[in-house]
Amino acid sequence: MATYADAQELTALRSLSASIGRSPHLTQAAGGNTSLKSGDTLWIKASGTWLKDAVTDDIMVPVAMAPLLRAVEQRDSAAEQPQIFAIEALNARKLRPSIETTVHALMPQRVVLHVHCVDTISLAVQADCEAEVARRLEGLEWAYVPYRRPGLPLAQGIAERLRPGVDVLILANHGLVVAAETVAEAEILLRRVTLLLARPARQVVEADIAALTALAGSSGYKLPADIEAHAVAIDPESCRMAAAGSLYPDHVIFLGRGSVLAKPGEDVPGVTGRCGTAPMAILFPGLGVLMRGDASAGANAMQRCLADVTARVDVAAKLNYLTAAENDELINWDAEKYRQKLNAASN
Ligand SMILES: [Zn+2]
Repeated sequence: MATYADAQELTALRSLSASIGRSPHLTQAAGGNTSLKSGDTLWIKASGTWLKDAVTDDIMVPVAMAPLLRAVEQRDSAAEQPQIFAIEALNARKLRPSIETTVHALMPQRVVLHVHCVDTISLAVQADCEAEVARRLEGLEWAYVPYRRPGLPLAQGIAERLRPGVDVLILANHGLVVAAETVAEAEILLRRVTLLLARPARQVVEADIAALTALAGSSGYKLPADIEAHAVAIDPESCRMAAAGSLYPDHVIFLGRGSVLAKPGEDVPGVTGRCGTAPMAILFPGLGVLMRGDASAGANAMQRCLADVTARVDVAAKLNYLTAAENDELINWDAEKYRQKLNAASN
């Protein structure tokens, strides 16, 4: 740390990060990340670590910012591997910086918070997102960034939209970024923006646990970790939205392409037989959700996220889904394979 004041800010950021990480409405699993600039060093959450562990574990990695920004500017593929820019002398745990490090480096403010806020995502999947957010964030300096894969493509998308003074980014089919000069100011801005973007969730009846247990039989499929995850299958509108494809990157990374729905009367062996694979999650319309026996904590968190997001989407809105090519580039992405490996190891 360059100064005592920076060290204090990093402590404050770790505490704020842990509280963000404890809210499933702001971040799920290893998603979301936070950073602090100290001189030319960017302290950023490590890839595959969970924000909720920011106080108990050392999850912040120091990165040399100037060469990373140069790589982004020159469209150098090195910007896809932020670990190249990690300052190894200060990186005792040999962690890799988040694949979203470039998002943080591009923002000029000292403190950057990037969250997968479910209210924001629910707006960011709607085709009318920009107009709806403009109405809600009137008076704020914000920018809308069209969907790009996280990493260098997203960094370039942000660079194209960034204007002086912008401290809020709405990332289409992805999430929210807020930035400020201090941790305290960033926390206030995050609270303000998430309140302005908040939307009520459609309420559903309870999951039919007895029916789900019977449908699982001896397949090894289990109830999801969070009871809230069932809502996506119970609410017909949410179910329709989920059935039509993948809405944001972490869904694809942790759960695979789109969602698999059981047909009326179909049990787990029926679904896996028809699909020829065992999907990470199966939605049983009107009843609830079952997760594959080896579903990680990350997969469970993402399944709940899908319920929380779709329950907030305007039922009349046209939705933007990830294209087949966008699904493919997430599934075949080396940086994500690393993050999933860490995720599996932590369960
Ligand atoms: Zn993200």
